[in-house]
Amino acid sequence: MLASADRVLVLTGAGISAESGVPTFRGAQGLWNDLRPEELATPEAFRRDPRQVWEWYGWRRELVAACRPNPGHTALASWLDERASGACLATQNVDGLHTRAAEDLGAVADAGPDEWASEVSGTIPDTQRDHTGHRTILELHGSLFRARCTRCGWEGPHRDLVNAASRDTLPACRHCKGLLRPAVVWYGEMLPPRVVAAAFQWARSADAALVVGTSALVHPAASLPLETLYRGGTIVEVNVEPTELTDRAAVSLRGPAGTVLPLLLGMGETPRV
Ligand code: NAD
Ligand code: ZN
Repeated sequence: MLASADRVLVLTGAGISAESGVPTFRGAQGLWNDLRPEELATPEAFRRDPRQVWEWYGWRRELVAACRPNPGHTALASWLDERASGACLATQNVDGLHTRAAEDLGAVADAGPDEWASEVSGTIPDTQRDHTGHRTILELHGSLFRARCTRCGWEGPHRDLVNAASRDTLPACRHCKGLLRPAVVWYGEMLPPRVVAAAFQWARSADAALVVGTSALVHPAASLPLETLYRGGTIVEVNVEPTELTDRAAVSLRGPAGTVLPLLLGMGETPRV
């Protein structure tokens, strides 16, 4: 199904990073100073105490930086590279591991703009492009390694160590010196509209949706594969457990992404249409 599809939307969730050891919010490892994410990942928490919120994000960056992309990320990255303009990756993860997997492959930077990138140019901010400049990973919930200025709105990569010793040492905008905030979607906030619009545009025109490691409960991300389905496309799911989508999927492969994806995507040649 995937090989014969002209356009594939890939949607990933926390499950694809589980084998990399990225801590989940819920697990004991995900808790910080006994505070729940709901108490920290909100605009109110940041207004009240930006120092504490940045300290938490600094800690999360360190945890994730110590993790590596797993064979699932790697198989997906090289498959996306082979398919070029025939696939789009949208992720709910904020860990940046898809980008790192693409970087590890050393995909060439001068690959030129692909068909899809030009099709939606103007829709996606340039800052969302990966290092190759030619593939955009749609980070629906933002990234731990990006920041946005609370004053002038600048947004871009931000991988620096966070010094949360005091309010004065917090990350500042290099353009206007305003306070930066993590460019992640917090509770009660909207998803980045242009990124979501691009993902939906893809979902509606895709022949297949490959859904990996997501419980498919959090909307609007969970609606993406349904858009593909309603327009006559098929859903292929990879998950260790059944999900809300399982009954709608043409194929549901039960197993860890790090094992299933290399088998699924490494199989045979991807025909070019
Ligand atoms: P979720 O926690 O709701 O669901 C994870 C899914 O992955 C489950 O269906 C589970 O059965 C499956 N899974 C677990 N291990 C797997 C494996 N090895 N292979 C394949 N599937 C596996 O996650 P979600 O659907 O992404 O939604 C949760 C929300 O939490 C999102 O908003 C996301 O932004 C956020 N979050 C992100 C990260 C991250 O960036 N890595 C981590 C935790 C939470
Ligand atoms: Zn600024």
